[in-house]
Amino acid sequence: MALPPDYHMHTPLCHHASGEPIDYARRALEVGLTEIGFSDHSPMMRDDFDDWRMFNSQLDEYVEKVRRAQREFPQLTIRLALEVDYLPGHEDWIRDLAARHPWDYFIGSVHYVSEDWAIDNPNKLSEWKKRDSFEVWTIYFDLLTRAAETGLFEIIGHADLPKKFGHRPTGDCTPLYERFLTAAKRHNCAIELNTAGLRKDCKEIYPSRQILELAFEKNVPITFGSDAHAPGEVGMNFAEAIQLARVVGYKECWKLAARKREMVRF
Ligand code: ZN
Ligand code: FE
Ligand code: FE
Ligand code: ZN
Repeated sequence: MALPPDYHMHTPLCHHASGEPIDYARRALEVGLTEIGFSDHSPMMRDDFDDWRMFNSQLDEYVEKVRRAQREFPQLTIRLALEVDYLPGHEDWIRDLAARHPWDYFIGSVHYVSEDWAIDNPNKLSEWKKRDSFEVWTIYFDLLTRAAETGLFEIIGHADLPKKFGHRPTGDCTPLYERFLTAAKRHNCAIELNTAGLRKDCKEIYPSRQILELAFEKNVPITFGSDAHAPGEVGMNFAEAIQLARVVGYKECWKLAARKREMVRF
């Protein structure tokens, strides 16, 4: 059976990934993928917001890099997307971005739990000592819920990113997960099975099996993503992700084109 599309990969424009889109595309064909999507970190309203994304002025260059890969590998379906940071108050900016190019989808990701703390930033690990992990999970899932409710995203990225460095919530998060997944379903948002977690200290796919089971119960659609930051990571650990999805009960995932959803078997 065909591999599901890998909808989460980056480009060197974000300053922490290597390899051009053509290299990712070549690798995708090697590992047997028939469809991929580029979803590099989108620009923020201010270019000095942080240092791990393309500048606003580079958006056209980004699109051109993806177009070049499409021209070079016509036998591979290559989607054009962005991984957009959700922060409250950024909705108009995200709408502006959406209008600038014919995107296939947006992944809405929460990295920032406050304007100056991206929880996945290894340089900010000391922030964890100042907070209780349950509080971080609570803030994080509240932001994810709000992200889903904006209706600006087809996919919500790495839903339990706070576990990246091995932190675990100190209380039962089931109600937080339920609330987020209910919002995702209501606003027609998929969650992604993101295999990058297997390459991090948590050694686990994002999201956890518990969250995925709740998602299946609520009929929340899924997509798959490697979150590749290098060509060698394209399609990485997809066998594990597919197995996890199947064990939980999923047989179908979404394909996306021109911001339209289509359910397909995997
Ligand atoms: Zn990144
Ligand atoms: Fe991310
Ligand atoms: Fe990413
Ligand atoms: Zn990511």
